[in-house]
Amino acid sequence: MKMPVVFIGHGSPMNIISDNDFTRSLVRLGKELPRPKAILVVSAHWLTDGTFVTCAEKPQTIHDFGGFPEELYRIKYPCPGAPDTAGLITELVKTPAVKCDYQWGLDHASWAVLKHMYPKADIPVIEMSLDYSPYNGWNKQSLQYFYDLAKQLDPLREKNILIMGSGNIVHNLRIADFENTDAKPYDWAIEFDERVKRHLLARNHKELLDCKNMSKATALSVPTLDHYLPMIFTIALQEKDENLEFIYEGFQNKSISMRCFKIG
Ligand code: ZN
Repeated sequence: MKMPVVFIGHGSPMNIISDNDFTRSLVRLGKELPRPKAILVVSAHWLTDGTFVTCAEKPQTIHDFGGFPEELYRIKYPCPGAPDTAGLITELVKTPAVKCDYQWGLDHASWAVLKHMYPKADIPVIEMSLDYSPYNGWNKQSLQYFYDLAKQLDPLREKNILIMGSGNIVHNLRIADFENTDAKPYDWAIEFDERVKRHLLARNHKELLDCKNMSKATALSVPTLDHYLPMIFTIALQEKDENLEFIYEGFQNKSISMRCFKIG
């Protein structure tokens, strides 16, 4: 029995304190999944030179956002870390080298989601960073690099560890509507999100890795790769016969796809 892999579109930090269709889908997911021994979150908000995992015993809650209600900055997610699992990852992944980090904690790509899924904060959590150094503009090779890295995490699934990519398939903050969460999404955002959906259902990973050429809407939907890459990590772990199921579909703030899915 392998632990499922999930991709979560986390969206705005306002979801941390919101009760909406999206956050309720996270609550359900936390109850439906087999209880993991630990959780590994690949975070859209931890961009580094090299690849790191958090090795601290007690990861700090990082409030890596500005201009939100004071209430958000008081929230802590006091879960334990999992230095043993982090150490295992540094051994499992042969290329590139993955190093231990003791400074970073949990940014909102993980705790904003986990607060809804596991409100007791009693499951150990670690994060993995995204190496932005080989990222030099749009090319297929740069996405393949992350896909190949992620495949090496596969043995964790048999050890009852939940791997979660946390980003957003469509993520353009420059033209987002933060006044209105439920604003009608841009046509191009819907187009891109639907195209990704079709490729996910058809297990068409090659197209998803070549996202620049996948759609005319790519440049607006994925202006930078940080929020798209966690999805690449999750699909890399999909076995040939494994089912992919959408946990949530929809948009927030006009230009953020909240699409979430589960593999296995
Ligand atoms: Zn984000």
